[in-house]
Amino acid sequence: MFGLKHRKRERIRKLPFPEKWQDIIEKNIAYYHHLNYRDQAELRGHIQIFLHEKKFEGLIGLEITDEIKVTIAAQACILLLHRDTDYYPTLFTILVYPHPFFSNIKQYLPGGIVAEGEQGRLGESWHRGPVILSWDNVSRSAHDHNDKHNVVFHEFAHQLDGESGANDGAPVLPNRSTYIAWARVLGEEYQDLLDHLKRHHKSDIDFYGATNPAEFFAVVTEYFFEKPIQLKMRHPELYEQFKNFYKLDTEAIMLKDDKDSIGKKEVL
Ligand SMILES: [Zn+2]
Repeated sequence: MFGLKHRKRERIRKLPFPEKWQDIIEKNIAYYHHLNYRDQAELRGHIQIFLHEKKFEGLIGLEITDEIKVTIAAQACILLLHRDTDYYPTLFTILVYPHPFFSNIKQYLPGGIVAEGEQGRLGESWHRGPVILSWDNVSRSAHDHNDKHNVVFHEFAHQLDGESGANDGAPVLPNRSTYIAWARVLGEEYQDLLDHLKRHHKSDIDFYGATNPAEFFAVVTEYFFEKPIQLKMRHPELYEQFKNFYKLDTEAIMLKDDKDSIGKKEVL
């Protein structure tokens, strides 16, 4: 399909997976343990290609280690499972700070408010540019797989969003009818979130998602992977759109694991 590039990737995908990397994944990536063996194998292949193609740079003296690279790559590649992917084609470099960093931002909030200035950031993704992460936050969210927050899922969702040519909350979808359904469901849910914010009502979707449709997509991506049972129960149509897009039934994955652990408890 991609000619030479495709053949090269197939070769890299099949390289023996270093034992050290396997240990890092098992130790750091809580989500890995939810995946079945076939998906785990697919993920390892994606990680090989990702690490072959992307460059990592440490900032403020942070030394890039295998642990940093593999922990970030594994989470970025979970978003690629089951998909026909070109591996974040406009992303070449991942910049990693040791701690949350400061960034000059201009943010448009509902009601025409523009927030500007320096803000402590956990992550950043530039359209056709780098992803910027802070290592202490990455490692914390990789271990805690169901607090609805994962900065790597969030920033790489922005990269997927940008593959359509614009960061507007509409990634590349297979056809016109899928776009129509996506726009309707996400449009309604986004509006609901704005209404909740305006009326000072509580919301299970993080209000950061009300910043704009691109943030909404990234925030719901975190929710979809981290709390799928809750997302499906409270927002079934939204869950369905994300299930189709990511080609993963994350709720079924979590439910299976719940049953497994209940079974184990009974045996014990
Ligand atoms: Zn964001």
